[in-house]
Order: sequence, then C-alpha cells, then structure tokens
Amino acid sequence: MGTKGISIVDMDVAELLGLLNKSYCDEWLAYYQYWIGAKVIKGPMKEAVIAELEQHATEELNHALLLSKRIIQLGGTPATKPEQWYEFTNCGYEAPDSPFVETILKQNIKGEQCAIGVYQSLMQKTISTDPVTYNILLQILEQEVEHEEDLQTLLEDFELL
Ligand code: FE
Ligand code: FE
Ligand code: MG
Repeated sequence: MGTKGISIVDMDVAELLGLLNKSYCDEWLAYYQYWIGAKVIKGPMKEAVIAELEQHATEELNHALLLSKRIIQLGGTPATKPEQWYEFTNCGYEAPDSPFVETILKQNIKGEQCAIGVYQSLMQKTISTDPVTYNILLQILEQEVEHEEDLQTLLEDFELL
C-alpha cells in the first residue's frame, strides 16, 4: 500500500473499502449469472443473446479485477470466500432456472439497473473525496449503462418477433 496515495483519500477509508467490497461481490455474482445464463438459455434469438451474455460475463469479471486492485491499493482485502459474495452483495443473484430468452434478459436487465444505481451512489460519495476511485467507478458505470442498453435492445427485438 502507498501511504501518500491513501492519505489523499478524503473520506473514511474503512467505509470506502466496505462499499468497494460489496460491489466486488456483486461483480462476481453478475459474472456467474451471465456465464451460466449463456450456457442454459433456450428460445428464439438465442445466438445473438448468447454472444451478448458472454461479452457481459467477460466485462463483469474485469469489473471485479478493477475493484480488487483498488481495494488492495487502499490497504484492504477483497472478499476471499464465495459465501461472502452472498453476504455482501447489493444486487443479489437471480438463477436462470427458467432458461427462456425473455426471462434471462429481464433478470439481467434488473441486475444492470441495480448496478447502475449502486455505482451512481458510490460516485456521489467519491466525487470530491477520492478521484482515483471515482475514475474507476466511472469506467465501470459506463459499461453497466451499455449493458442495460444492449439487453433492452435485445428484449425489444425479441418482443417484435
Ligand atoms: Fe459490472
Ligand atoms: Fe453489467
Ligand atoms: Mg455488450
């Protein structure tokens, strides 16, 4: 950990670490929800939806990577146990037990909308206190906004079938 780098954070670092860890856990659950959804999905437009789900899975895993690096940089430890993903999550996990295209799209849209709200709130907390974290959150939020739009566009196409 870099002591000067941490000292410029103008908020409670322990509180910030707690919030970053919660989002870190969300990202792992989002990753798995997309990854397994892409495997079990059934129905019309399946190929197009699978391509998007797989891309989003990769991007969620990268969000987990970005958050883990920042947590470690701030002197924290990212959740080390999968059971903590459920313990700390903001947005939860929706199992794709019904594999129909429309159901999976709606479950993932709900997850993206939750993520957008969480990152917006974290950005409000860090905008004037921690520009480094803020910049990481902005990169992630840009992708969550894109994810929501990608999925809503697919759902719209599906409903026009
Ligand atoms: Fe994400
Ligand atoms: Fe996302
Ligand atoms: Mg996409």
